[in-house]
Amino acid sequence: KLHNTILELKGNIRVFCRVRPVLPDDGAGSEPPVISYPTSTEALGRGIDVIQSAGQKYPFTFDKVFNHDASQQEVFVEISQLVQSALDGYKVCIFAYGQTGSGKTYTMMGRPEAPEQKGLIPRSLEQIFQTSQSLMAQGWKYKMQASMLEIYNETIRDLLSTNKSSSTENGAPGKQYTIKHDANGNTYVTDLTIVDVCRMEEISSLLRQAAQSRSVGKTQMNEQSSRSHFVFTLRISGVNEGTEQQVQGVLNLIDLAGSERLSRSGATGDRLKETQAINRSLSCLSDVIFSLAKKEDHVPFRNSKLTYLLQPCLGGDSKTLMFVNISPDPASVGESLCSLRFAARVN
Ligand code: ADP
Ligand code: MG
Repeated sequence: KLHNTILELKGNIRVFCRVRPVLPDDGAGSEPPVISYPTSTEALGRGIDVIQSAGQKYPFTFDKVFNHDASQQEVFVEISQLVQSALDGYKVCIFAYGQTGSGKTYTMMGRPEAPEQKGLIPRSLEQIFQTSQSLMAQGWKYKMQASMLEIYNETIRDLLSTNKSSSTENGAPGKQYTIKHDANGNTYVTDLTIVDVCRMEEISSLLRQAAQSRSVGKTQMNEQSSRSHFVFTLRISGVNEGTEQQVQGVLNLIDLAGSERLSRSGATGDRLKETQAINRSLSCLSDVIFSLAKKEDHVPFRNSKLTYLLQPCLGGDSKTLMFVNISPDPASVGESLCSLRFAARVN
């Protein structure tokens, strides 16, 4: 169902497409290129064509398309206003969607050791801290709280738990990690570690801690493939001591599990169940965004942990941006088409 409909639907959600550069392991060279752009010399455009080896051409249009030349900074510039709106009291979600190896983690996290290759998460946090500093001069006071979790097989794991028992599925024994909705319409996760943050160095060390506790799996496609959804949440409470104005913003940055279908990942047994759980939760996400865009009365938030957790940040006047990450590898053309169709459905 997910992969077969292309619908022209314009909702509150924006979709950016990013194509990563060709890597040495890609099959490029053996076959003609499969991805082309209307203006291949520009790092930023709106259209992307997928051309299959048979010559069949599939054109797509998104809010923005970044080609392989687009730097991390060039991508960040296009989302910095959205990040800023979390400081103004909006609820914001930024997702990275795509098959394993398409550049989701590079886009969200980047290579922290190389400053110019830092991803959207560190850049967003740097901007928030910087901007909040200057707003403090105008009487604003902020309280910021970070949490990081992953959803693996519909189970929540706390990535900041200091309780070192990663052998249990939940990361810490006796903890429940249940999603609750409070009286103000916000969600929280019971027992989840929440850390007060006010400096970038604190975030950087939390990100390192989270990266270490992430569960990774082995598929034929990518040894380090991420089989879980990673959710970074920053809650911002601001109060202006002069005007007594208050803001409550949330910034969610989500590195989704790989969207690849079964045949290519060669999955059996536990791996098969894992892949099915991933596919189900990704199609739930698509269903939720789709029915929000259509302004349907019933939005199926409860059908997956991810959408139930993010419910307050997906509906209402919240802002959502989805990156669809694409590999230029000719061997990935089928997956690329699926990803682009998924994105076209929610755009
Ligand atoms: P995913 O998280 O979707 O599985 P990764 O982000 O791990 O994919 O990307 C796969 C590989 O491609 C990594 O080695 C990554 O560093 C590299 N890569 C992805 N996007 C880019 C890019 N825009 N520029 C340079 N290298 C990239
Ligand atoms: Mg990844």
